[in-house]
Amino acid sequence: MTDFRTLDDVDVKGKRVLLRVDLNVPTENGRVTDATRIERVADTIREIADKGGRVVILAHFGRPKGKRVESESLAPVAEATAAILGRKVAFASDCVGPAAKAAVDALADGGIVMLENTRFHAGEEKNEADFVKALAENGDVFVNDAFSAAHRAHASTEGLAHVLPAYAGRAMQAELDALTKGLEKPARPVCAIVGGAKVSTKIDLLENLVSRVDSLVIGGGMANTFLHAIDIDVGKSLAERDLAGVAQRILDKAKKTGCAIILPVDASVAKEFKAGAENHEYGIDAIPSDGMILDIGSLSINRVKSAITDAKTVVWNGPLGAFEISPFDKGTVEAARFAAKRTKAGQLVSVAGGGDTVAALNHAGAADDFTYISTAGGAFLEWLEGKSLPGVEALRRKD
Ligand code: AMP
Repeated sequence: MTDFRTLDDVDVKGKRVLLRVDLNVPTENGRVTDATRIERVADTIREIADKGGRVVILAHFGRPKGKRVESESLAPVAEATAAILGRKVAFASDCVGPAAKAAVDALADGGIVMLENTRFHAGEEKNEADFVKALAENGDVFVNDAFSAAHRAHASTEGLAHVLPAYAGRAMQAELDALTKGLEKPARPVCAIVGGAKVSTKIDLLENLVSRVDSLVIGGGMANTFLHAIDIDVGKSLAERDLAGVAQRILDKAKKTGCAIILPVDASVAKEFKAGAENHEYGIDAIPSDGMILDIGSLSINRVKSAITDAKTVVWNGPLGAFEISPFDKGTVEAARFAAKRTKAGQLVSVAGGGDTVAALNHAGAADDFTYISTAGGAFLEWLEGKSLPGVEALRRKD
């Protein structure tokens, strides 16, 4: 049994199921250009409908800031959803009030309706009790399948869970299972790999990880700040020199918690940030003063692979180098492929997500073999930071 209430805990037959999903898909001229987010929740919609539930889809779209903005209507998304499901999806021009009620009342068992953008009402982001009540009038139960919106306590992501019986949908359940395996109840040792441009955006994340994981690989631009903090000259590399104190504090904390810190021992260095820029590898104590570290070096790649080999679980956020410009993608690509290979062989649980990580692992051709890749962005990062996510907490089993 999972720690959360799921669709296995409710009989939806004949019930009006308010289903919160994330349909914030990219569009161009009113057409959906990438339907990945719709595909992710299609199974949950089908399952509820096939069990005889009446599916009432709730979602936000864009940032209309509490006003009706026609260009941020969910109408085109409803059409795209119908096409993906191969089923009729009705559409209501409002998510509360008479239009919503009429559309929901017209549903037969197994029917599907999408209600208009929840953010057309200011009560959504303010989680106003009256707005929560108005939404709840059209549902008997609430199912949340929008992990990516679960870090926000909005009416349709959190408020509803307090006034209706609430359950995780299948996409939410898969995400929660993966996150539990990744950090809450992981197979140990756990190795975290953190890269990306800056320390400043990931201070909370690093502080949390050093107290929870057995080893922490630090790569990318942020490693330069750590190297600078331990008196290594990083030349013209991107580094937040003013954060040397923060980096030192994280290193001290790691010492106390027994978390091994793995910093680069060599680096691929160029004079310009450009694809194909002339580059050389240097030991970390010999970085030229006019050079920029753009990737970890070969010895460091081997050390990262060893850290992955030693681990039963890897949690990954952020590229190890400037992966968008070849050949500075080498460290990220080799480490990602290595983790993917061990995962495929059943030797590793690998969970990754946040920011550019998904793009970097796709670029490496490694994403399909990872145990789980979260596309949730902000919610995934807050989870890595050890914060509790209101939309998730509301689904936690209490008994
Ligand atoms: P983030 O969004 O924090 O995960 O940062 C990702 C960005 O960090 C990517 O655009 C990378 O190009 C960049 N990055 C990684 N390593 C370096 C580096 N050594 N120097 C400059 N930028 C880097």
